[in-house]
Amino acid sequence: MADHYASIIIDISHENVDRIFQYRIPESMEAKIRIGTQVSVPFGKANRRRKGYVVEITDHVDGYDAGKVKDVDGVIAGSVTADERLIQLAWWMKERYGSTMNQALKTVLPVKKAVKARNRKVVETMVSDGWLPGLLSHRESGSSEDSSVISLNEEQRKIADAFAADYDAGLRTPYYIYGITGSGKTEVYMEMIDHVIGAGRQVIVLIPEISLTYQTVLRFYHRFGDRICVMHSRLSAGEKYDQMERARNGRADIMIGARSALFTPFPNLGLIVMDEEQEDAYRSEGAPRYHTREAAEKLASLSGAVFVMGSATPSLEAYTKAEGGVYQKMRLTRRAGRSRSLAATEIIDLREEMQEGNKSIFSRRLETLIRERLDHGEQTMLFINRRGYSSFVSCRSCGNAVKCPHCDVSLTLHHKTRLVCHYCGYTIPLMRTCPVCSSEYLAGFGIGTQKVEEMAQERFPDARVLRMDMDTTARKGGHETVLSAFARGEADILIGTQMIVKGHDIPGVTLVGVLAADTSLYAPDYRCGERTFQLLTQAAGRAGRGDKPGIAVIQTYMPEHYSIRTAAAQDYEEFYRQETAYRKLMAYPPFCHMLQIQVSGKDENLTAHMMEQIGMSVEKNFGARTRVIGPVPAPVYKVNDFYRKILYLKNENYDILVRIQKYIQQRWEETENCRRLVIQYDFS
Ligand code: ADP
Ligand code: ZN
Ligand code: ZN
Repeated sequence: MADHYASIIIDISHENVDRIFQYRIPESMEAKIRIGTQVSVPFGKANRRRKGYVVEITDHVDGYDAGKVKDVDGVIAGSVTADERLIQLAWWMKERYGSTMNQALKTVLPVKKAVKARNRKVVETMVSDGWLPGLLSHRESGSSEDSSVISLNEEQRKIADAFAADYDAGLRTPYYIYGITGSGKTEVYMEMIDHVIGAGRQVIVLIPEISLTYQTVLRFYHRFGDRICVMHSRLSAGEKYDQMERARNGRADIMIGARSALFTPFPNLGLIVMDEEQEDAYRSEGAPRYHTREAAEKLASLSGAVFVMGSATPSLEAYTKAEGGVYQKMRLTRRAGRSRSLAATEIIDLREEMQEGNKSIFSRRLETLIRERLDHGEQTMLFINRRGYSSFVSCRSCGNAVKCPHCDVSLTLHHKTRLVCHYCGYTIPLMRTCPVCSSEYLAGFGIGTQKVEEMAQERFPDARVLRMDMDTTARKGGHETVLSAFARGEADILIGTQMIVKGHDIPGVTLVGVLAADTSLYAPDYRCGERTFQLLTQAAGRAGRGDKPGIAVIQTYMPEHYSIRTAAAQDYEEFYRQETAYRKLMAYPPFCHMLQIQVSGKDENLTAHMMEQIGMSVEKNFGARTRVIGPVPAPVYKVNDFYRKILYLKNENYDILVRIQKYIQQRWEETENCRRLVIQYDFS
């Protein structure tokens, strides 16, 4: 039998991933050593015994004389550690998303950086760092309204009880809580968490960064006190490390945080909760480009933990699994809090406004409603949909967006002269008039927050207008500052992009206006219908969170589009049916898998040439069952003097795409010219 070698990491940390040592695996230990196994090895000149973890197993030694490699000393018996599971997760990520083991390990292992002497409690740390303004005053004023444990309503109780029974019986099928905004999902999570920590195990709660506000953390803090720890991008590296150590050492049971909180080294993880499961922020941008839902599901199964997801607007992928019984679907159908009903929603056809001579960004109906709010001292939120911002072209008279005849995605404007399809490369010169109705009102949609603020101020001179965008929130905690000012009633109208529609409860808001709902429909991406539905549903959900009923007004050039109609009707299931039909027809995920390969380099010709080569070799070796689309220029073709090209591969079988990725990567590493280029893989 050929020898096998284990790559060992000694002091397990992000920094030491670049210092990995190889040892020979004695034949007697072959059966016991796996990825993640804890072993003891002789280390250094004196051959002192050290503990380490196996991160890779190979049949060769890298750049070293095999005869000089030392043997693994022994396998350390005992219970599986958190680090062992994280290494196994890293291995799975490397395999599934096509990265190196180093990249995967760096993703799951914490950056080691001790906090300075002050060892303050996490919540207070955040207060003094300006992350949670308002929390202190909240506590000083002795407000106890939030701290009492709410008794669950019947729907909530049913889910919590089913969970507890399953959990105690050792059943670990993931749960999907599909519940409208404000239906009390968070209360259900807390009940589940209570059950799991009561059984002596720990919990990770994933919340998209944008919804991870002090309000949210405060609710958990009131219920669980100092047993919580928090992971947030605004914490310093030292504070993050400190939070991870509190979890590792058993000083906390509950980690609340964005994506990277998944890698918290709890000794006995029992539950992972993932709120707002559909959020884009759950997709990692770096390598490996993992998806948090998939990684969380894997980690839960490695840990014997339950995985619970929740959303009012599930992703198509997850909902398809819930429908197929892979996840247990649980429903919450009614609002739980003070406001009992969803906002009434109206669709306004902007083409009609135009025909009747109203060229303003405010329809007559929206204007009337805003004036009513101003008269009654109620608040309005105006939402600008900025996705796909002005890179596509559409007709302001008939609403037609110029699309690719082959792909059903919008064409993207290049250099103000050409329209290009990013899926197939189809290119036409920019036309002067609308191909459908010949109108000359053909333009990009680009209207920014600042412009809308000016227009609102002009039209409603008495109104106090507040704007929330990158400019006004750049400061630390700026986001919270703007929102809390608005929540305190310091303005009548709040104008903003995506960030104003996610998860904030502002009871004074009785009107939400969506200025141009269509913008996100034309993004060059097959998921744009889904994104639009999600954004509109969330926007509508912002109105009427207090005692008074709310109205949501959706202004659009495409009132008949199913994403807009179903969002206005708050009908996820109908949206799901239509979107599913479209994805099946076009062979898009989740009904077909896609591997997106991006190559970038400063040498434009070389970049294009290598991409062509990859395309041809995939075609030749895997062509029979794999569709190869492209190469095409990336949506933003040139960035920092790097030219970027994309190739799409489609196959119903994910594993075949993984095989192709490995094949490409191997050839890539063997090719001299490729050192000057960067390759990235993205599976969906
Ligand atoms: P979701 O997470 O689904 O958006 P939340 O858990 O935030 O919903 O609940 C929305 C509001 O309803 C919150 O203010 C919460 O305190 C309140 N709430 C939730 N469940 C109940 C309940 N059973 N009784 C009274 N109020 C509730
Ligand atoms: Zn096309
Ligand atoms: Zn037209």
